[in-house]
Amino acid sequence: MNKDSAKAEIDRLIFEINRYNDLYYMESKSEISDYDFDLLLVELQKLETQFPEFAYDYSPTKRIGGGITKKLDAVVHRFPMLSLSNTYSEDEIIEWENRLKKNSEGKLEYVCELKYDGVAIGIQYENGILKQAVTRGDGTKGENVTANVRTIRTVPLQLKGDFPSDFEIRGELFFPLKKFHELNEQRIDIGEEEFANPRNTASGTLKLQDSKIVSERGLDSYLYGLYGYDLPLEGHYESVLKAQEWGFKIPDPKNNLMIKTDSINGIMDFIHYWDKNRSKLPFEIDGIVIKVNDYLQQQELGFTAKSPRWAIAYKFKTERVETVLESVSYQVGRTGAITPVANLKPVQLGGTTVKRASLYNSDQIQKLNLHINDIVQVEKGGEIIPKIVGVNKDKSDQSNLKIEFIDKCPECYTPLKRIEGEVHHYCPNELLCPPQIKGRIEHFIGRKAMNIDGLGAETVDVLVEKRLINSYADLYSLTFDQVVNLERMADKSADNLIKGLEASKNIPFERVLFALGIRYVGETVAKKLAKGFKSIDNIQKATFDELVNVDEIGEKIAISVQQFFLNEKNSEIIHKLKNAGIQFSLKEKEGTTDRLKGLIFVVSGVFKTFSRDELKEAIETNGGKNASSISSKTNYVLAGENMGPAKLKKASDLGVQIISEDDFIDMLK
Ligand SMILES: [Zn+2]
Repeated sequence: MNKDSAKAEIDRLIFEINRYNDLYYMESKSEISDYDFDLLLVELQKLETQFPEFAYDYSPTKRIGGGITKKLDAVVHRFPMLSLSNTYSEDEIIEWENRLKKNSEGKLEYVCELKYDGVAIGIQYENGILKQAVTRGDGTKGENVTANVRTIRTVPLQLKGDFPSDFEIRGELFFPLKKFHELNEQRIDIGEEEFANPRNTASGTLKLQDSKIVSERGLDSYLYGLYGYDLPLEGHYESVLKAQEWGFKIPDPKNNLMIKTDSINGIMDFIHYWDKNRSKLPFEIDGIVIKVNDYLQQQELGFTAKSPRWAIAYKFKTERVETVLESVSYQVGRTGAITPVANLKPVQLGGTTVKRASLYNSDQIQKLNLHINDIVQVEKGGEIIPKIVGVNKDKSDQSNLKIEFIDKCPECYTPLKRIEGEVHHYCPNELLCPPQIKGRIEHFIGRKAMNIDGLGAETVDVLVEKRLINSYADLYSLTFDQVVNLERMADKSADNLIKGLEASKNIPFERVLFALGIRYVGETVAKKLAKGFKSIDNIQKATFDELVNVDEIGEKIAISVQQFFLNEKNSEIIHKLKNAGIQFSLKEKEGTTDRLKGLIFVVSGVFKTFSRDELKEAIETNGGKNASSISSKTNYVLAGENMGPAKLKKASDLGVQIISEDDFIDMLK
């Protein structure tokens, strides 16, 4: 391909990918499969490597991340990034509004917005291209997090329409709750500690050195504050709507995420509405922001030393109650991590009865300096279980028994260990500590792992306690008679359990590998390992270098895999599972050949005998590759009816051979 046609192809791919991306992330529509979308990206990436002069900063390949930033540079803000004064009192909002009316000429209009519980960001655009993204920092200087922000799908890399040539847009980056919970689930799967709350996790994510990880985490944005010298409009509200036309994700008034009002009643209605309805939002907010709309009036009102006079934040009250700390118990997780839990005198909080609160780890207990029967203050924030935020010292008796973190496992009495740099204490008695045994078995039978029908956590508990099983491998030697004799186990349930175990022998290798519960081997890593090594024997034999040579397998994972297999007990377990008939190697798909090896196909149009997906699958099982658009690398276009004339022309321009469905079937014979 020559330079001119490479540039044209790169431009076309960028346009296509951006269009699909916008449809998906801004309008929740998808017109292309993930697979085809990835192929477009791969094509673009290849061309960019070949022609680096056309690898633009605004290319959607930047969204995948990849570069490592060793240290985040400090950047001075062009416009100081002040924080807003805030209040928990509605009266103070009324006073603020009265003061403004007294101090400004003309009629005042206000914009009310949500106060997002995320990370403030300022993003600079030059000639419509994202140039730099900087965190708030101390308000004067922030950190340059440009590479990471480029990976956030709702932040445009390239604008459309009639944008100013040089401006900054500010707003908030945050974790959608769904993404946050998924992230924590994945972390539990691989035996890592859960993240405490979405805001801190968003902030930590934004400062990661590897933008590829940032890309996978799924941060989202709302952008809504314009700063510049030649802004086209005179009011904040109108400017935000304009920014939407340029491609930004703004808090849309259609969803009541932003309103314009000229009265204190309008402001109060907005506050009350969201105080009541905020739990329905798919992300967290902690209040409402009210701003004067008109830029000139904003200027006239000016700033105090710390914050603008023309804006104020109203913060929702977090409900806090006091109750008695009755005791502290300690839970042991699947990986042996110890979590302290406070047992409280039951108390009403946010519409539910609270009996327990998380204490996270030993540091937290020390920080709070807890004693039995202390009167503690409990809050329910974004976290699922409430937390203790303090002790009412006036009402508590410090001579009561002080709470000291345990030094032995509460379940097996093994002395606990704490690895330097980690926040949790661990019970090192992996193989014999009952909750660790149960936890591993529960992980093994889980929906994403062996998905064993008819077996739940309660039955696992009973089986372990009755010493019928000691590891997940023992499950496969259970008999109907053993199971049916358990309490509350009917004939039918026992039968289901045995059938469920039998059915799990067909679960494919990559899921078996995940089910084993090797630390740091989550679903994705298990797939990579299965694909890379084909069988458990190969993984067991693999050297450290061979392991880290597999895409996305880092040193930490490699060490963990090797340690797992070095443990004799695990080898025994795998031996037992093998004998039971569990899948320990990748099954070749039926009818696999390499007849089409090395050939690249584009399938397009409507077909008589097979569906498009069936044809694509046939190409892959026979060793060929599918591409979504025609390029000089394409070997064949498999054309059905109604194939677009543009595609036909492109194929003939590039000299790519066009074949029919019948031709294709002949090729496979
Ligand atoms: Zn233990």
